[in-house]
Amino acid sequence: MGIYSRMRSCLSDKNKGTLTRFLIETGLKPKANCKVDSPFEKGIVVFSADFEMAWAFRFSKTRQSEAEKKGLKERENIPVLLELFQEYGIPVTWATVGHLFLSECSKSPDGLAHSEMPRPGFFENRNWCYNTGDWYQHDPCTDYKKDPAWYASDLIDKVISSGVIHEIGCHTFSHLDFTYKNCPKPFADSELDTCIKLAAEKSITLKSMVFPGGTFGNFESLKEKGIECYRKPMKYHIDLPYIDSFGLVAIPSSLGLDKDPYGWSKEFHLKMIHNYLERAVKYKLVCHFWFHPSMDLWFLENVMPEVLKMVADYSGSAKIEVKTMGQLAEKFKKLTAEVLGR
Ligand SMILES: [Zn+2]
Ligand SMILES: [Zn+2]
Repeated sequence: MGIYSRMRSCLSDKNKGTLTRFLIETGLKPKANCKVDSPFEKGIVVFSADFEMAWAFRFSKTRQSEAEKKGLKERENIPVLLELFQEYGIPVTWATVGHLFLSECSKSPDGLAHSEMPRPGFFENRNWCYNTGDWYQHDPCTDYKKDPAWYASDLIDKVISSGVIHEIGCHTFSHLDFTYKNCPKPFADSELDTCIKLAAEKSITLKSMVFPGGTFGNFESLKEKGIECYRKPMKYHIDLPYIDSFGLVAIPSSLGLDKDPYGWSKEFHLKMIHNYLERAVKYKLVCHFWFHPSMDLWFLENVMPEVLKMVADYSGSAKIEVKTMGQLAEKFKKLTAEVLGR
C-alpha cells in the first residue's frame, strides 16, 4: 500500500469524499500516463459490466443478506441499460458469471448442486468469507421463473439480440476467488471449461476476463483456454494496456460508475467523467468505465444517459473510439506487433 492509500484509509467516509472531490476539482485526478508514447491515433473508451446477479454476494461479509435483492435489481436494470446503450450505439463487455447462462439446474442424487464441479476449501478474503457448508449451498436448483436472481439465460439472449454488438466476457462459473492461493489450477480450469462450453451453446467465444472481486490469478489457465485480456487497476487511471508475461493483454480500469456514498450531485459526477474523457483524448490513452448492472436507480436514470450521450458526442466528433475489451486487446496486439516488426 502506498503512502497515499495508507493516509486515505485513515479518513472517515465523509473526508474521503471531500478529498476525492478536491482531487477532481483541482485536476489531480484522474492521473494519466502522460509520458508514454501511445500507439493509438485517438483515445479509446471501454465499458464493461460485472454481470453476476445474486452469485456475487452470497459469501459477502457485508451484503450477504442482499444477494437476492441485488440479483433482482440487476434483472430490472439490464433491459433499461440495454436500451440506453442501443440509443447511443455503444457496446459493452458483459463479464458474465457462467451459471447465468443456465435457465435451470437441479440437485444430483447426492443432494448437491453441480456435484460435477470442484469446490474450494474454506477461505476468507477482503470481501468474502466462506467458512461453512457447501460452496453451492445457495443455488436454488430450480429455474429462472421461480428464482430469477440466479439464472439469466433469457437476459443473455437479450444482450445478444440487442441492436448493438456487445461482447460477452467471462466472470468465472461460480463467482469464486480466482487467486492461486484459493483456486488451485484444476479448479480454475474446470470453471473456465464450463463457462466456455455454456457460452459455445449460444455461439459465443469468451475472450475477456474480469476477475471476481479483483482476485487476480491463474493466468496460465486463461491463456490456455483462449482468453486474451483482463481488466486491471493500474498506476494511472488513464493508461495504455500492456501485454503481460503470459501474453495476455491487461486493460486498465479507470472508474466505477455508480452513485457515490458522499451525496455528490449529478453535475459533479458528469464533471468528473468529463475529466476522464478529456485526459483520454489528450494523451490518446484508454479510459475504461466499469459498472455493476445492479447500480443505483438515481444514477441509472439521471447520470448514465448523460454519460452515454457525452461518450457518443466524443465518438461522433472523432475524438475517441469506443471498443469492447476484446476489440481493444486485438487492436493493441496488432499495433504492438507492428511496432516490434519495424
Ligand atoms: Zn445451479
Ligand atoms: Zn463480480
